[in-house]
Amino acid sequence: MKDRQLLMIPGPIEFAPEVLRAMGMPTTSHVAPNFVEVFGTALERLREVFLAPEAQPFVVAGSGTLAMDMAAANLIEPGDAALVVNTGVFGDRFGEILQRYGAEVTHVRAPVIGDTPSLDEVRTALETPSTSSGQGYKMMTITQVDTSTAVATDVKALAALGREHDVLVVVDGVCSVAGEELRQEAWGVDLALTASQKAIGVPPGLALVVAGPRAMEAFRSRKSPVVSYYADWTKWLPIMEAYEARQPSYFGTPPVNLIWALNVSLEQILEEGMEARFERHRRISKAVKAAIAALGMAQVPVSAKVAANTLTAPYFPDGVERSVLGHIKEAGVILAGGLHPEIRSRYFRIGHMGVVNTSDILAVIGAIERGLAEIGYGVDAGTGLAAAQEALAA
Ligand code: PMP
Repeated sequence: MKDRQLLMIPGPIEFAPEVLRAMGMPTTSHVAPNFVEVFGTALERLREVFLAPEAQPFVVAGSGTLAMDMAAANLIEPGDAALVVNTGVFGDRFGEILQRYGAEVTHVRAPVIGDTPSLDEVRTALETPSTSSGQGYKMMTITQVDTSTAVATDVKALAALGREHDVLVVVDGVCSVAGEELRQEAWGVDLALTASQKAIGVPPGLALVVAGPRAMEAFRSRKSPVVSYYADWTKWLPIMEAYEARQPSYFGTPPVNLIWALNVSLEQILEEGMEARFERHRRISKAVKAAIAALGMAQVPVSAKVAANTLTAPYFPDGVERSVLGHIKEAGVILAGGLHPEIRSRYFRIGHMGVVNTSDILAVIGAIERGLAEIGYGVDAGTGLAAAQEALAA
């Protein structure tokens, strides 16, 4: 296929052929025995992928924003205080959603774009709530990878802090689950959420929420009803429980083909194994970042310690602009522009998650080199490729 292009943006990503085949199958009834079995199996597999054996998964038609909405709608009551560990645009979004449900929201922000707030800053924020009533926080949200900055947070340490201060720990894992290391139960994460189109490896359309026992308890002990109709776990919990018990059930029609596809992708993820998968994402990311550095580009994350493994966000070199992305596309690879409003025109983003392999990233680096050469940016052909190969061989 001469016009084939690689979609290397931070979601949607390239999907496995087996997953896409499931999308194209004749659609079954949502209560057909074979679909009930597939939905039940997908729910069980989600627990394994999130490493959350005691948690309750929810699979609902929607995007990652619905998953965030579900967390807020079901866990927040008017007047609750919430702390957002903010590393970019998606922290802002979580704050807005929480506010919509009546939370009093405080952001603890990174000192500069590309960094994370320190653990001490988060601890201080937890200990000195800046709420009108002085009440403590009920919830803390953490974006594991903010897709607008490619910054990764230390979820393990932050969740431990949250637990110490008895807050519900909620992780936006839209750009991380099934790519970055996340051990929901072992790390004390009360709720983790994602969407299908990223490292989970299924076309856009599924909101995935995995709620641990403390989150479910907080939901059950609400004093006020959930104000969102579609996001209400009161509606969805019996449905998820029924499918897992292999009973047909109905509240809103499930996106049948997406759930068939999800089950295929989860099976592939578990076949690879979570540890191997985390390691593959680390290795691929190191190679991309080595190539970007060799090509003379800085990155938005201020250090390797806070850089995500699921995407890379290089600043354009001096004299190079966004138009280079068109040349890179001509060379066969689709990359994404910037997203953070304060630096949007100064950087671009390369997604490398899900089924991504070493040939994909060599194609990406090759296309970037060609794009740069076409606009006259002086770099020796093969410089980035050599750096990537060296990192892969290490
Ligand atoms: N959180 C993060 C970290 C994301 O990257 C995204 C999507 N880019 C979202 C939330 C929102 O997900 P969606 O676009 O699927 O609504």
